Amino acid sequence: MKIHLDSDRCQGHGRCYSIAPALFTYDDNGQAALIVTDELADEQVGLAQLAANNCPEYAIEVA
Ligand code: SF4
Repeated sequence: MKIHLDSDRCQGHGRCYSIAPALFTYDDNGQAALIVTDELADEQVGLAQLAANNCPEYAIEVA
């Protein structure tokens, strides 16, 4: 499982990096960026999915 971030959809609400600061960071404009681009560790999957579920723009997919 990996995190897939659609930067075109991201509106910089910041929920993902508030929920999962070990997985997401942000640029100078508040747009999300991935910290972890490799295969997720088992213990990271739940948090990644929580962030995805809380993204109001549906910009995050965990698959
Ligand atoms: S929660 Fe979604 S819209 Fe908000 S910063 Fe993260 S990816 Fe972007």
